[in-house]
Amino acid sequence: MSEATPTVVAIDGPAGSGKSSVSKEVARRLGYGYLDTGAAYRALAWFALDRELDTSDATAVVDALGAFDYTISLDPDDFWVRVGETSVTEAIREPRVTDVVSGVARIPLVRQAATALFRHLIETSGRSGVVVEGRDITTVVAPDAPVRILLTAAEEVRAARRSAETTAQDAAAVAASLQRRDASDATVSEFMTAADGVIVVDSTHLDFDGTVDAVLAVVRERNDQ
Ligand code: C5P
Repeated sequence: MSEATPTVVAIDGPAGSGKSSVSKEVARRLGYGYLDTGAAYRALAWFALDRELDTSDATAVVDALGAFDYTISLDPDDFWVRVGETSVTEAIREPRVTDVVSGVARIPLVRQAATALFRHLIETSGRSGVVVEGRDITTVVAPDAPVRILLTAAEEVRAARRSAETTAQDAAAVAASLQRRDASDATVSEFMTAADGVIVVDSTHLDFDGTVDAVLAVVRERNDQ
């Protein structure tokens, strides 16, 4: 007999909204798995750079998909990402990857493959639920999820948070890169405004714990309905 389909908590939002750390903590508190979907696009961008491909050449990137052996942990307490035997958990956060990831993520065949992969990872997670975070989870990957949230924050707050996490670049460079990436990503997925039925959690004036509580309150409210 097959296992029941895991409950999905879908969380979308722009860069620096606190999505990853908040989603991970929400998963821990609920005893759910945690799926970082951006990691797959980042790992593919890393893989293309590693092979010295031109990441703006969609055909070359799509051709590379066949050899892209991607694995990711769904355990919020033991998070890792691998391409083949190589751990890329840290490497996929490097600015050289961040700078090209949007270009890779806008290729339609890449998105199709990624969406199928995410659904498969959720189905086979072996968990009662999975917190899935990204840009198109509430709209494309899991539009029927019982809990769908858009996590936002004012742009200057997001830039300041991202800059505090990144030591390799100065604040102005981080803000510029974030703005560029959001503008590019927003032409592919609608994540700056909430789709129908998606609840907005604005973390501009919330600290980390406050944001986690706000997300958990939405989960509880939805489960009570
Ligand atoms: O969330 P993160 O910043 O790691 O995402 C990296 C990139 O992956 C985004 O800038 C976007 O281009 C892409 N992405 C996407 N759809 C998702 C998750 C991420 O297009 N669901």
